[in-house]
Formats: sequence, C-alpha cells, structure tokens
Amino acid sequence: MDFRDSPAEAAFRAEARAFLEAHAPRDYAHAYGQNVDEDALVRNQRAWQRTLHEHGWAALTWPKEYGGRGVGPIEQIIWNGELARAGLGESIFVVGIGMAGPTIIAHGSEPQRAHLEPMLRGDEVWCQLFSEPGAGSDLASVGCRAVRDGGDWVVTGQKTWCSGGHYADWGILLTRSDPSVPKHEGITFFLLDMTSPGIEVRPLRQMTGGEHFNEVFLNEVRIPDANRVGPAGGGWSVCKTTLMHERMAIGGIELFGFRWDDFLGHAKANAERIDDVLRDDIGKLYTWVKTLELLNARMITKLGRGEMPAAEASVMKLAMARIVTEGGEAGLRLLGDAAMSKDGPWQDIFLMAPSFHIAGGTDEIQKNQAAERVLGLPREAETDRRVPYDQIPKG
Ligand SMILES: Cc1cc2nc3c(=O)[nH]c(=O)nc-3n(C[C@H](O)[C@H](O)[C@H](O)COP(=O)(O)OP(=O)(O)OC[C@H]3O[C@@H](n4cnc5c(N)ncnc54)[C@H](O)[C@@H]3O)c2cc1C
Repeated sequence: MDFRDSPAEAAFRAEARAFLEAHAPRDYAHAYGQNVDEDALVRNQRAWQRTLHEHGWAALTWPKEYGGRGVGPIEQIIWNGELARAGLGESIFVVGIGMAGPTIIAHGSEPQRAHLEPMLRGDEVWCQLFSEPGAGSDLASVGCRAVRDGGDWVVTGQKTWCSGGHYADWGILLTRSDPSVPKHEGITFFLLDMTSPGIEVRPLRQMTGGEHFNEVFLNEVRIPDANRVGPAGGGWSVCKTTLMHERMAIGGIELFGFRWDDFLGHAKANAERIDDVLRDDIGKLYTWVKTLELLNARMITKLGRGEMPAAEASVMKLAMARIVTEGGEAGLRLLGDAAMSKDGPWQDIFLMAPSFHIAGGTDEIQKNQAAERVLGLPREAETDRRVPYDQIPKG
C-alpha cells in the first residue's frame, strides 16, 4: 500500500489546497447542529457553490462536456479530504451534485440534462425522496404509488428522513408503479419539482433542536412523464446508480466538524481533566482515526492500480461513525461541567453522532457488506425477491 501521494496526486492536492486557501469562505454555514439559521445557510452555501463553479471545482468526476472537471475517483477522494480539512466538507448540494447529477448524466434524457448547469451553479438545491416508513435498508420495498394518467403520473404516498426537503427546489423520487410484479421490477424513478401542488413537507425536530430533515407527503401530485428517468418499471437500476454515487459522496463528508487536530488541541487545553480512563479512550480514538487514514490510503492505492475497492467504503463508514461518536463523547468529558451547556462544537458533534450510524446505510448493513464482500460469507437470504410486491406481507 502507498502511504504517500504519487507526484501527480501531490500536485493535485497542492492545487486544491491553494484554491481553498485563497477562496474558502470565512463564515461557512453548516446544515447540522444547533441554532441553524436556514436562510443564511442556503444563501451562504449557494454563494460558495457559485465560486466553486466559476473556478472549475463544482463537480470533479462529472465529464467535461457536462461542466465537470472530468477527473477520476482518486482526485475526488483527495478533494473531499481537503474540503474536510478546511471545514467545508458538508454541503446542501450533495444530493444534486453527488447523486442526482450523475444519475441524470447516466440515465436522463437531453431535456433533463438542462438541470445540470443550475446544479453546478448552485441555483438548484436537490433532495432525495427514497426512504419511507416501511422502506429504508430494504429500499426496494418502496410503496409510494405512481399511476399513469395520460401524459402525467399521479403520485400518492409518504416519504421520510428527507434531508433539506424544506428548502430543496427539486427531488429525486422512487415510486411503486406496478405492484403486481416482484419488488425490484415495479419501481419508477422521477425528478420532482418540489413546488408541485399536493406536496406537504413537515420538518422533523432532532435532539440537536435543529430541523434538518422532513416527512414529505405526496397527495395526488402530478408529474409529467417527461420527468421519468429510465423506463417505467426500470427505476431500480437507475436507483442503483444513485446509491453507488451516494456511497462515494457520503464516504467523503466531514465528520460533523470532528477533526483530530482540533480534538488534540482541545485535549491539551483541558489536560487537567484527563484521568486514566479518558487517556485510554483517547488512545482508542486515535487508533480509529489512524485506521480511517489507512483505509483511505488503501482505497486510493487500489484505484491507482485500476482495481475497484470492494467493501472499503463500508468499513470506512463504520470507522467514521465510531470516530464521531467516541470523539463527541471524549470532547464533552474534556469540558467537565461546561458540557452541560447546550452550545458548542463538542455538543453538536455528540448530538449528531447517532445519526451517522443510520444515514447512508446503517452499521448493520455496512457489516453485512463487509461480511459478504471481504469475508466471503454467504449472501443474506431474500425470501421475497421473486414474490409479486402486492403479495408480500407488510408490517
Ligand atoms: C441524518 C439522516 C439523513 C437522512 N437523509 C435521507 C434523505 O435525504 N433521503 C432519504 O431518502 N433517506 C434519508 N435517510 C434515511 C436513511 O437512508 C435510512 O434511515 C436508512 O437507510 C435506514 O433505514 P430505516 O431508517 O428505515 O431503518 P430500517 O431499515 O427499518 O432498520 C431498522 C434497524 O434494523 C436493522 N436492519 C435492517 N435491515 C437489516 C438487515 N438486513 N440485517 C441486519 N440489520 C438490519 C438496521 O440496521 C436498523 O438497526 C437519512 C437518515 C439519517 C439518519
């Protein structure tokens, strides 16, 4: 495994770092945490996205013909690392640029590709309307019903956990268009204008006090057939493209503001509170941070050799969730009584950490991936795979 950048990688890293040092906004607003001023968040991140676009950093892996930089996953990983280092790793454009855009490039029609430029410029915020109360880890169980009516589809159902749905302009939507066939075969994928009549977005309050995600109710929402991506009933393979890109996008996000160097500074400033137990826990935390760095290096090495990483992204996601959880706890313990106050970066990290074990695939699902693809254990049984959707018992 190569622990250091190749000359080309080092040059790219230096270019990225120089750009960020020259242009990074001083007052970057984050979507997570407490006391989020959402108007400022959207305004501020739209402006940063425009700057990225003007300088050719808006979408690294998109082909040049669609306004991207046309580089590979190694550069994307390096760029994600540099963004996180600068405290800019989290973006409200992650669904648009990281998931919807690549899906439209791969499966969309020419008119649908008109969305790509506004995504890059920061003019369109996108959200993901996949999860439902009865479909999360088993996403192919979506039940939100789409019925063809002339040139439109009429969609009725409930989505949940929709991050940023309350300020999104557009959404990518998974629906059940044919319940009479097995679950993977009756799904249709749409682009949804979030201003369409019949959409009700209800924010869900988190324990941080913030309202980062939403339940979304669709009540006979009309979607033009022109907004269908891929064939009717062929939405699952479109969705797999989105999920593949989501893994890449999530793998690169910053750890809700947790950075080892900040933590170390915090620990040194509060050294009098470090007893033997906390010293031991900080040692374990450091081991996880180093493990993540090594997994990252392994992924880059594999990609550099033209090999596809197997379950590295899953193991990295597990490590990231653990670092945020243990880092947030240790950060609070270093604060002593002051941890009882609600405000502060360590409180934010602590309160957001549990969601990291769920979002983008739960810990158990990541472990399943590692079990099957690293350890070679048998695939999980799927007893309902060939059963028509409307004959599967619903909980
Ligand atoms: C912060 C955050 C943001 C999110 N944003 C979005 C968004 O913008 N759009 C969107 O569509 N979704 C979003 N999600 C939803 C997320 O993708 C789902 O929560 C996730 O896929 C898990 O689904 P679920 O919540 O339905 O849990 P379930 O799938 O019901 O799982 C419940 C429990 O059962 C376990 N489990 C389930 N299946 C298995 C299995 N096969 N083997 C072992 N254990 C299993 C799980 O690990 C979990 O512990 C977000 C979630 C979070 C936390």
